[in-house]
Amino acid sequence: MGAAMTFSYDPLIVAASLAMAVFVAFVALDLAQRVATRDRVMSRIWCTGGALVTGSGVWAVHFVGMMAHSLPVATGYSYGFTGLSWVVAVLAAAAMLFLAAARRLAGWRLIGGAALVAAGFIGMHQLGMMSLDMAPQVRWNLPLFGAAALLAWLTGTAALWLFRRRRDGRSGRAQQFGLATGLGLGMVGAHYMGMAAAMYAPGSVCLSADQLGGDGLVLMVAAATVLMQVLTLVTALLDARVRGRTRDLTHSLEQAHHQLQEANEELDRRAHLDPLTGLPNRAFFDERLNQARVGGMRKLAVLFVDLDGFKPVNDSLGHAGGDKVLREVADRLRRVLRTGDTVARIGGDEFVVLMEDVVHTADCTAVAARILDALARPFAVGDPPVHISSSVGITIHPDHGPKSALVAQADAAMRAAKRAGGRQHALFESHMSSNAHEQLSLQVELRRALECGELVLYYQPKIDSRRRELAGVEALVRWNHPERGLLGPAVFIPVAERFGLIGQLGQWVLDEACRQMKEWARAGLRVHVAINLSAQQLHEADLVERIDAALRRHGVAASQLLCEITETVTMEDVSTTQEVFGRLARIGVFIAIDDFGTGYSSLSYLRRLPARQLKIDRSVISDLETSADARAVVDAVVRLAHALGLRVVAEGVETAGQRDILVGMHCDELQGYLFARPMPADQLVTWSRRRPLLGRG
Ligand code: C2E
Ligand code: CA
Ligand code: CA
Repeated sequence: MGAAMTFSYDPLIVAASLAMAVFVAFVALDLAQRVATRDRVMSRIWCTGGALVTGSGVWAVHFVGMMAHSLPVATGYSYGFTGLSWVVAVLAAAAMLFLAAARRLAGWRLIGGAALVAAGFIGMHQLGMMSLDMAPQVRWNLPLFGAAALLAWLTGTAALWLFRRRRDGRSGRAQQFGLATGLGLGMVGAHYMGMAAAMYAPGSVCLSADQLGGDGLVLMVAAATVLMQVLTLVTALLDARVRGRTRDLTHSLEQAHHQLQEANEELDRRAHLDPLTGLPNRAFFDERLNQARVGGMRKLAVLFVDLDGFKPVNDSLGHAGGDKVLREVADRLRRVLRTGDTVARIGGDEFVVLMEDVVHTADCTAVAARILDALARPFAVGDPPVHISSSVGITIHPDHGPKSALVAQADAAMRAAKRAGGRQHALFESHMSSNAHEQLSLQVELRRALECGELVLYYQPKIDSRRRELAGVEALVRWNHPERGLLGPAVFIPVAERFGLIGQLGQWVLDEACRQMKEWARAGLRVHVAINLSAQQLHEADLVERIDAALRRHGVAASQLLCEITETVTMEDVSTTQEVFGRLARIGVFIAIDDFGTGYSSLSYLRRLPARQLKIDRSVISDLETSADARAVVDAVVRLAHALGLRVVAEGVETAGQRDILVGMHCDELQGYLFARPMPADQLVTWSRRRPLLGRG
């Protein structure tokens, strides 16, 4: 046997194979970060795609490496072994990426895993070598082969370890390139050592010389591989960007969520308590009344307590003095009640008491008498002390009627007591509910008003706090009553709702608002107009179609109309709201959630509603200057709303102090008497030219 036949190397192709190896490692390091996502499906997709790319890459490096040497005889690669070596390379890469994505991998598992991966790549290499079908058979220089295997295993271990370290942290591109160079050198080194370990007998011939071969093929493989790697890298970079953004968003949402929980508790408390006296409010009282049960001898009673002559006292003592009296009244009421009774403040100087487990009417009149006594004692809020008295109306359920009528009946009884001179209590009698008569006649008049066009819309500006310009207006309905003058919606909207006129009224408002928008447009003023929708309108099946029709009829863009719906209504029936909001959004009409902060809503519902604006209720705004809680609520609401892409509107801004706090908190729009009261349409054009819109210092 003469001198063994040896390879000669083409240094250019050796360099090219090294460059490819480094690039493959660079991309693989990126892939290792992709597979480490918590999303299991995405992780699997990246593992599978990554295995194809990395496996093909390593295989191509090896293939190009084989081409770097030439034997002094004609050679070619057998199809079968070449294909098989590719399959093994992909499998080894898959094992590597899945191991990199595995949750725990340390110590022996890492070393064993790396051995498996290395074995795969060595197998690929050997299969590749076998694709050179030489006769006689190749013999191996075992120490050199062992060294190559060791290097492959070391490279595999290093790769796995690096993949796992990098997946948690973000590291720079320069570092990534350095690591890739190391891995590439290991990969190529193992390859050439492995090749050098092959010893061919002199005079060997290649039996597969007629199969795969030629420089063109090498070039093609190399080009395809590089292209594949580039595409992968681009995809990986895009993925990294998307993930970075998601991470940032998640982070800010988490922060907002935390603030929110606190704000929610505060909102909850606000929803149940009257901030001035600390007594329950109307909402809490109604809830309590709803839950109260009657049965057997046990009945319920509601006592309506109203102060006599409180208004003049309030006027002469000033705001602070009046508040003091009210707080003292609350304290005295608490003291005279039986345990288990509930007292709430439901209006300026109006209080209601719920008595449960009432057996005799005398139980109620005794409590009423104690209340009258307690409130008749002088109040030490000024000099001389203030004297006021009170009137109490009493109703009993089920004797006098259903639970739902109790408060109104007690109110009627209280009025009767007042008419009789005050300082006394009166038990409800059916003739007292004249209110019902009044509502009935109002209803008749309202029908006429709707037909004769006695309704008008007033418009109140909303101001963009950043751009300091008109952001839009809210349409507020008024009734130009022939005898009673201009009536506010509080008087007739409840009547309309109760007697089924709200649909007609709402339709009129919608039409009139659209007509006005068109008219302003002709005068050169493009304004967004918000209309208020009541609960019943939300349940009208054809609401969205009618809005759409009105917009078309007047030729107004849908994006110019906004529908305000109160928070309480939106949260009552979230699925209906979601559906209607969704349909409105589809025709291009935006939605604002009105009176936010008065209901029991969980802020997290907001995420599910396609709303555009959040209007923070006047009651929260009015406390801004005096209450840290109110400020915290507004701050949290603004942050959350912004995280969800909603604009925040503050309503009822009355002072420059409130305005400054709101502007400081980045509240988007401001509405309130500080800027303008609701005004007839023709005044708006002039008003909108006024400067500065945000008012002075
Ligand atoms: P809202 O939707 O909360 O409307 C805002 C109310 O706050 C208006 O009362 C407005 O005049 C008043 N307001 C605005 N700025 C200030 C301020 O700085 N201080 C104070 N104290 N009040 C301010 P308005 O016009 O009496 O309307 C009362 C409610 O009637 C409205 O409350 C709305 O719920 C309802 N409403 C008005 N127009 C319509 C309508 O066309 N359809 C329906 N369904 N409801 C309407
Ligand atoms: Ca409103
Ligand atoms: Ca409102």
